[in-house]
Amino acid sequence: MDMPTSQAENLDLFVNARLQFERALTWIDDIKVGLIDYLINPKRTIHVRFPIHMDDGSIRTFHGFRVLHNRVRGPGKGGIRYHPDVTEAEVSALAAFMTWKTAVVDLPFGGGKGGIICNPKELSRGELRRITRRFVNELGDAIGPHTDIPAPDVYTDAQTMAWIYDTFDMMHPGQNNRAVVTGKPLELGGSLGRDEATARGSMYATQQLLRRDVIPGMPTLDGVRVAVQGYGNAGNIAARLFHDDGAIIVAVSDSRGGICSDEGLDPVKVLAHKEETGSVVGFPGTKEITNEELLAYDCDILIPAALECQIRADNADNVKAKLIVEDANGPITVVADQILQAKGIHVLPDIVANSGGVVVSYFEWVQNLDNEQWDLEKVERLLEKKMVRAVDETVDTWTALNSKHKDGFNGTQFAPALRDAALVNAIKRLATVILQRDIWP
Ligand code: NAD
Repeated sequence: MDMPTSQAENLDLFVNARLQFERALTWIDDIKVGLIDYLINPKRTIHVRFPIHMDDGSIRTFHGFRVLHNRVRGPGKGGIRYHPDVTEAEVSALAAFMTWKTAVVDLPFGGGKGGIICNPKELSRGELRRITRRFVNELGDAIGPHTDIPAPDVYTDAQTMAWIYDTFDMMHPGQNNRAVVTGKPLELGGSLGRDEATARGSMYATQQLLRRDVIPGMPTLDGVRVAVQGYGNAGNIAARLFHDDGAIIVAVSDSRGGICSDEGLDPVKVLAHKEETGSVVGFPGTKEITNEELLAYDCDILIPAALECQIRADNADNVKAKLIVEDANGPITVVADQILQAKGIHVLPDIVANSGGVVVSYFEWVQNLDNEQWDLEKVERLLEKKMVRAVDETVDTWTALNSKHKDGFNGTQFAPALRDAALVNAIKRLATVILQRDIWP
């Protein structure tokens, strides 16, 4: 396959997702060629446009998407994002990541994703409520507990999920509808541990990767210097959990900029400052840095936990970390992946690193269908088990691919990366189920 060069870098997330997939395919010699298109492209894409009464009396039309990428292993599963830069290509790529993620951690789900083009920072709570309710109304039976199940993503939260549940419940009275959406408030059937799940899962995954000796000289998080880009659900909780396990948080950032301190930051105090002022910037005793400087900060582990395509051809060479843990989806372009690999920097890929969110979403769904509420200890124990297994399987496959590479397998151009290994595992799982189900008439 021809990989793009840095001169020709394309920042379209779906193009990057496709190239990641095609790169992994070079390691699989027995894939049915006719399945490839089906495994890459979305099964179905819904566009909706709907008018909303704004608080000032005006009317605005909003545009939203729901992409069902694949549901061969179970109902579609994936978050809903509210952001001004949402595009169909972005949502399609995020939906594809969900298909591969649910396969790699072996959940009985497919992949989906949704988004509305809007700027939540400029919308009131009432406007957000009306947008969410109307969106769900427009989607109709395209979502449901056994068809496609939304969850939170960037700038949506438990309150958004409560509105989704309530709207769907009004449309389908007289049945248990709780499993239509995950990431709900606890009182509405949310799971204990869901708010922390993405970050906690990434911590368990990182701990296991270090136990497996993938990063020389870094067997645990103790004393490890960590920089985190993005201080929302994934980022701020990752900073706290990594800190609690002995890491030193040397730099963090949000959309307004970053801060650093080589003595280490207290993530809880930084969060309190962000809640009070709207940003991590200005936290006492720290130096201000840009997001670009954060990515290049002198640290051992870099955790991108904001948006996609942050580490690209033009800045990958500046990264100093030994390991990148992708709490965000798609933060590294394929060209940047090659640059990082050439520098010996490992990447714990998004489909493994941030899969804790969908793992606990799955636990929430199971609890909802059973009308049960598990205790936190059970959620965390089962989450850790899933994450450790996903990392072990990824590292085992990576080791096997490395041997194949040394033997000159397929004339493959690239040494395998952990991302290739995770995708190989996901693709094989999907292909097996497709063939077992014999889905063609
Ligand atoms: P969030 O809305 O809670 O937080 C996003 C954070 O990113 C905010 O702190 C925001 O200020 C910051 N940010 C936005 N633009 C930025 C920029 N240009 N530079 C630096 N920081 C910027 O969102 P989240 O749920 O934490 O999601 C973050 C990432 O994690 C996304 O890629 C998302 O897809 C991924 N993810 C989230 C979950 C989950 O359960 N929430 C699960 C899996 C993956």
